Amino acid sequence: MDKALAEMIKISRETGIDPNLVQGGGGNTSVKTADGKYMYIKASGTALKDMNQKQGWRRMRLEPVLAILKDKSLPKMDASTREPRVVNLLLDACDDNIKTIARPSVEAHLHACLNKCVIHLHPSAAGAYHNAKNGRAKLQRMFKNESPPLLWVPYTDPGYMLAKRIALLVDRYQRQFGRSPEILFLHKHGLFITAKTAEGALRLVRRVIKRCNSNLRQPKAVITKSVGQEEIGNVKLCIERGYSEATGEDTPIWHYYNDAIEDFMRQRDARKMLSGSLTPDELVYANGPAMWVETARESQSIAKRLKRQIEKGRKPSAAFLVKGVGLFVAGTEKIAPTVRDIVLYSIFIRMNAHRMGGILTLNKRQEDFINNWESEAFRKKLVSKKK
Ligand SMILES: [Zn+2]
Repeated sequence: MDKALAEMIKISRETGIDPNLVQGGGGNTSVKTADGKYMYIKASGTALKDMNQKQGWRRMRLEPVLAILKDKSLPKMDASTREPRVVNLLLDACDDNIKTIARPSVEAHLHACLNKCVIHLHPSAAGAYHNAKNGRAKLQRMFKNESPPLLWVPYTDPGYMLAKRIALLVDRYQRQFGRSPEILFLHKHGLFITAKTAEGALRLVRRVIKRCNSNLRQPKAVITKSVGQEEIGNVKLCIERGYSEATGEDTPIWHYYNDAIEDFMRQRDARKMLSGSLTPDELVYANGPAMWVETARESQSIAKRLKRQIEKGRKPSAAFLVKGVGLFVAGTEKIAPTVRDIVLYSIFIRMNAHRMGGILTLNKRQEDFINNWESEAFRKKLVSKKK
């Protein structure tokens, strides 16, 4: 096996196993080969933790990947024409014996302009800052002695525009500091770490997360009683009925309960904190923030609230926080744990960002872009939810 591929599998599995670092199919990694001609990169559709010698990656020629960023016609195109075109260009740049239709990560051209090893994650510890009103200033203070300094990337629509923006910022950064950035925080999105070696990249991930966490409130151990099975069953039934009434589909409902969930539900501002989508992932996987349900008795009204969401042209909530009872997720056995992990990630960020001065969520235009951009991928997810 190529050394670069072995390194990429290592960094992917080591980070992918931790839901505090990345949830579901989110995040991506890449490693460039020693000769500088190729780049191994995560493929869409496989989670980082599931990458192995046979699946979850593509090998690409670097030259055509970098050429995408220099292409003068792409920025002039409408997003609906441009994004599929970029995906095809990325597929054309693949050079391996992979027979499946696994696409290389849509952020491949972004990886191409960074250092040899790249790890992109969605850590909750980073989110607490990049989704907080004063988060950027806090990060800048916390990492002020970092050399080279961290790079802040203002919110940009995912896909081609994000890659283009980062390429521009990295270029400017190189002229200013004479080297490439190693730590990139992406506003309302995530973290990019890049280093010359796999070990160096992993070390840097651990260091950045530790530093972020040192100033954050961690969930407290607060569970004092166990929740009754009857109560859980009743709430499940309400959500099940509500879902079927609102969507016309039968969906299994799952219950999760732990200290982090209970701790969040006890917050005075819990309801207020659950407004708007934090990141593209929360919007795509959980259809936005979890729906707050004040008491188990109030779960009768879930159907009405779901119907109202659909009438407004929104996708129905996939997660419900029922005070004192726990987290409920509507979806298949396969998707439910991912939604749970997204909710755990989200409540950690919301609680900390709220304390930091306010939660920053995606605005309407940003949400609309994600819904359109993800529509193909989302339809696939919806189909798998139904199964
Ligand atoms: Zn991402």
